[in-house]
Amino acid sequence: MSAPLAESAANEALVQFLYRAPIGLVQALPDGEITLINPMSAQLLMPLAPDGNLSNLFDVLSPVAPTLRALASANPASGGVVCDGLRLTVPAGGPGQVTRTLALSLTWLDGHTLMACLSDVSHAVQQEQQRLASQWHDATHTDGLTGLPNRLVVQERIAQALARHRADANWHFAVLFINIDRFNQVNLGHGTAVGDQLLCHIARRLNAAVRPSDAVGRAGAPGGTAARLGGDEFVVLLEALPDVAAVHGIAQRLTDALSRPYAEGGHVLHLGVSLGVVVDACGADDADMVLQDASIAMREAKHAGGARHELFNPAMKARATYRGMVEAELRQALREGELFVVYQPIVGLATPGPVGVEALVRWRHPQRGLVPPLAFIEVAEQCGLIGALGAFVLDEACRQFMHWRQALGALAPGLLSVNLSRAQLSDAALVQQVQHTLQRHGMPAALLQLEVTESLAAQDSEVRLHLQALKALGLTLALDDFGTGYSSLSSLHQLPVDVVKIDRSFVSQLETSAHHRVLVDATVRVARSLGMRTVAEGIETPGQADALQTLQCDKGQGYLFGRPMAGDSIGPWLQQWAAARAEAGRSACHAACL
Ligand code: C2E
Ligand code: CA
Ligand code: CA
Repeated sequence: MSAPLAESAANEALVQFLYRAPIGLVQALPDGEITLINPMSAQLLMPLAPDGNLSNLFDVLSPVAPTLRALASANPASGGVVCDGLRLTVPAGGPGQVTRTLALSLTWLDGHTLMACLSDVSHAVQQEQQRLASQWHDATHTDGLTGLPNRLVVQERIAQALARHRADANWHFAVLFINIDRFNQVNLGHGTAVGDQLLCHIARRLNAAVRPSDAVGRAGAPGGTAARLGGDEFVVLLEALPDVAAVHGIAQRLTDALSRPYAEGGHVLHLGVSLGVVVDACGADDADMVLQDASIAMREAKHAGGARHELFNPAMKARATYRGMVEAELRQALREGELFVVYQPIVGLATPGPVGVEALVRWRHPQRGLVPPLAFIEVAEQCGLIGALGAFVLDEACRQFMHWRQALGALAPGLLSVNLSRAQLSDAALVQQVQHTLQRHGMPAALLQLEVTESLAAQDSEVRLHLQALKALGLTLALDDFGTGYSSLSSLHQLPVDVVKIDRSFVSQLETSAHHRVLVDATVRVARSLGMRTVAEGIETPGQADALQTLQCDKGQGYLFGRPMAGDSIGPWLQQWAAARAEAGRSACHAACL
């Protein structure tokens, strides 16, 4: 074959190749005029040229790449790349067709010729989009820390279970809402890194403790419904429960599994868990409501001391609603100064006469009038407002106490007794707060007494440390409501208290029940043998006062001597006592003189 013939055959082969190539190839002049275009290009570009005019590349591409012309003319150098793999979204060419994604590479072959390569990358883009969508789905359905399914999954699964139960009343399910007791103390005491590790550990235990026979899948597996809602809250959904009562056994098994000690960050941590259980939705309309009811039951478990499970019932909801209302109003009360303190005199029994006062908080509610503390102290404890409330009472009572000392001199009360609640005693900042309050008012610590309840003082080692630290400030501690809680006379010696306050329930039956008389007698004797003083609460009759005096109880408190009263009523009350005493003295003297 001669050389020109061979060249023309090669050209022919090249043209054939260009025509058959599965990618689009276009050759154009610098102004975009197309000089060569293969069928694949025409096919790919046709949706952009509905009139069939494919004469100018820049014109055709202008709807999807409006800056291409300027880009090309800015880069006319030989061999210069104008764009490489530029993604173009080409609209559907007609009915039944789909939007396509093209990749465009445009290059200067020399200063006078542009070469465009076009390929259909719709499939690759779709795959990429699917991959991203599945990643997004996983991310939005998985808890980032523990890898468990998250709230979204729980909501979806509960909604499905609800629908199924509605369709078939014999198909039962249960939602277990799990919260770790005092988890914030782990974060505070050991740092959030240990807290996070612990949550992962808990998640693993939860997964392992959930059996396939509970109709709950493992996390990661399809249908996995042991999930983390966030923080230290987990949820387990039990589906197709054979027997509704079985839920108690399962809840107990989970509680046991999660309560075993954890070795984390070089520490051995002991945790309790509180579970709230809702069976068959129990009247809830949707998944959110089921979760909310389960969390209400969990809170009840927590309020009952934790480390247990509680089955939801509608009365719990009414209580939670009331608590929510009181909580909101109480926040306002603290802000608006609706709380105030009243004082009940404490008197000597052996040597009659005022010895001190107990500070008791009151709430002047703008609509409901005077609210007694029993209606809001518990809510304040549960919602974390007790710290602020207790700080207010202590501050106000110390201020009032020092004011009496200044205004009443020798007549002023010699002791101020202030109630502390359980939640305050778990707070490590309490000791410093008490110290600062005393300093702020220039009040000697020996004149302050703090009252704690026996259930509280007996239990927690951390609480005991705080009690010791409080005592080290120089104040005294009283054990309030003795006889109503857990500790008994035999454990009294273990408590770091100076005073035992005998509960009103014993005092009120003193005159009628020999049994109660024996109990009070024993309490006074044991307390005395331990170097503790006794105060009887709720004395209402002279007979009770006489009996207590006979039993050698040191002090008393009750309506017989004085009701709780406003701070400025204490002065007149003390003056009355002083006048009565002086009168009694004069009468005695008069009688002696006769
Ligand atoms: P508590 O510490 O045992 O206080 C004694 C309660 O008995 C007071 O009720 C008092 O008014 C009442 N009381 C006193 N003498 C008699 C009597 O002769 N007969 C009868 N029937 N009752 C008498 P109050 O003020 O309603 O307080 C109830 C409880 O609320 C207190 O019991 C205490 O546990 C709590 N509390 C009151 N103020 C505070 C406070 O500032 N902080 C904390 N944490 N708790 C407080
Ligand atoms: Ca008290
Ligand atoms: Ca009491």
